[in-house]
Amino acid sequence: MRISYQPASESFGRENLVQMKGHDYPTPYFVIDEKQLTADLSMLEESLRGSWPNYRIGYSFKTNSLPWLVTFLKEKGVMAEVVSDDEYRLASRLGFPDCEMVYNGPVKKRDSFQKVLLAGGIVNMDGRRELDWLEEISRTCTDRKLNVGIRVNFNLEEMCPGQTTMGEAGGRFGFGYENGVFASVVERVRRLPNVRIAGLHLHSSSKTRSVAVFEAIAQMACRLKREFRLTLDYVDLGGGYCGGLAGRPQYPDYFPAVAKILSGAFDPQRTALIVEPGISLLSKATVYVTGVVDVRDIGKERYLITDGSRFHVDPTMIKNSYLFHLELQGEGGRRRMARQCVSGFSCMEADRLFEYENGPELREGDRIVYENVGGYTMSLSPLFIQYFPDVYIRREGRLLKVREHWTPEEYTAGSCLYGEEREN
Ligand SMILES: *Cc1c(COP(=O)(O)O)cnc(C)c1O
Repeated sequence: MRISYQPASESFGRENLVQMKGHDYPTPYFVIDEKQLTADLSMLEESLRGSWPNYRIGYSFKTNSLPWLVTFLKEKGVMAEVVSDDEYRLASRLGFPDCEMVYNGPVKKRDSFQKVLLAGGIVNMDGRRELDWLEEISRTCTDRKLNVGIRVNFNLEEMCPGQTTMGEAGGRFGFGYENGVFASVVERVRRLPNVRIAGLHLHSSSKTRSVAVFEAIAQMACRLKREFRLTLDYVDLGGGYCGGLAGRPQYPDYFPAVAKILSGAFDPQRTALIVEPGISLLSKATVYVTGVVDVRDIGKERYLITDGSRFHVDPTMIKNSYLFHLELQGEGGRRRMARQCVSGFSCMEADRLFEYENGPELREGDRIVYENVGGYTMSLSPLFIQYFPDVYIRREGRLLKVREHWTPEEYTAGSCLYGEEREN
């Protein structure tokens, strides 16, 4: 696949700048700009405050569960949105109490399900198993009032043609509305004397992340409320927002539009809005810094061997362009080259990031800095050939290390060697 160069809006034209500042730090590494992250979180909060003051934010752990990042967000009053027992335990370990968790996804475990439920956290049921658990817990905790949410699966593609991730095939999460399964779940939960349907979870992934998608989600919430005469503590819109990209929607575009629709059926005093942002919160704040370690000509191709990897910025190999800028070593005056193939450290031929067309000829020691790489990178990278890289935050112009490059020590933790096997 050919990967084309897309100039970064802000840094375009900076490519001949000599920026030696970062050069004391060994590449590759990620940097999260604390000021930008704070600004993006504030933008989210202000937009919600102005549109629906009764709100909670649940940060999507799967998007990037770097301990520094999630504890930063915890300090700002953000809840942990977790989708597995491992994520639940990570959030616990990092100090989130059970009542500050939003527990989603189809692979919850019974024990953590019960803990979050009894602690008064947000539990959005996603599958029949969880209904069985709920019935058991309701029988054994008769003196408790239990509040649950239900994840609904509905035909968003029909409301927003061409926009959803799965298209007409539909998604697999939650209980189907159109085929009546959602209705039967509502009925089943209503038979439990001490359980209330407190919320709806409507997360749906879209390709477009458009405002219209979230308007459709809000419309669906209104429709379900009316059809099933629900009195809800919360409507959970899920995640999937855009953020940090020029010409694309931002938080202040989504929430006034959503609030306008929700206010037709919900009272903001009575019903909270829950949002579960992930990538939109981190994108703009995060860069990945890589260095050119070798330049070689093979056949007609100029290869730039870098110490970064496509696995660190595009682990699912779906991107066809990158935002980046360059930090060149030494004086300017580079000649332009028609093509240079920017490739990664791994020994896979597919680990090529992009063909750099018509750029200055790069040399060993130059740096390529990828922008908007906060989501689905650090948490999704495989431990392939090189382990997780260093992570720094930028605070008042200084870089502070918040994660050390993994070493064979972390990699082998929990493993036993030949001759040390144990029974279970
Ligand atoms: C993935 C996910 C999110 C976050 O999605 P982003 O695209 O990173 O904003 C939020 N909620 C649920 C249920 C998810 O699965």
